[in-house]
Amino acid sequence: KKEERLDKLLSNLGYGVRKDVRFWIKEGWISVDGKPATSPAQKVLADQVRLEGKELDHPHGLTIIYHKPLGAVCSRKEDGQLIYADFPERWIDRKPPLSPVGRLDKETSGLLIVTDDGQLNHQLTSPKQHISKTYAVTLERPLNGNETELFASGKLMLEADDRPCLPAELTIINDTEVSLVLHEGRYHQVRRMFAAVGNHVNTLSRTHIGALSLNETKLVAGSYQTTTSGELMKLV
Ligand code: URA
Repeated sequence: KKEERLDKLLSNLGYGVRKDVRFWIKEGWISVDGKPATSPAQKVLADQVRLEGKELDHPHGLTIIYHKPLGAVCSRKEDGQLIYADFPERWIDRKPPLSPVGRLDKETSGLLIVTDDGQLNHQLTSPKQHISKTYAVTLERPLNGNETELFASGKLMLEADDRPCLPAELTIINDTEVSLVLHEGRYHQVRRMFAAVGNHVNTLSRTHIGALSLNETKLVAGSYQTTTSGELMKLV
């Protein structure tokens, strides 16, 4: 935990630009260690600062367990309703920025981790870390019967990819409802795996990341809870 300029700290947490901070100091809205802040350039520790009497919002990093609803997009560059609309407004201006850990498609719902911790993001997505992702899938057509074996074989090639998919575990609920466990995350992977066997994914939802179960979080679509990188790694 290091000292930094008050204005930089508050702008990196998304509260406002330097000009705003200058104004808040003048109005007496900011205190440092119980005393009114004196200058935007003042060196402070985040834990010493209060804004309108309140502690700062996750000054040491932010990790979110989120139930992504259908229709929300993960990329800030895409058009449409952003997942960030479900979070407090200031979070979109935080630096380092929040990023989703392995994007879900607009038409996919379910468990999504969003974090400003680049190392955590890598740990959760790198196939070397062996953190599985589980999807609940409903299909347009009945299974052929060979999918379990093919997906488990490590030989399934997807169109436009130059190496086969890692072995994946298919659990059959009935002939149009399955769950699928992946150990990597390629673009539209679940949809493309079923396209490769002549089927079509009707609905897709991520139910687990490692041992973390969306059901157990009790989060309804569009809601979230905050945690820390350390706590999250214990849950997955
Ligand atoms: N596979 C997909 O096809 N889409 C997702 O959103 C996630 C996995």
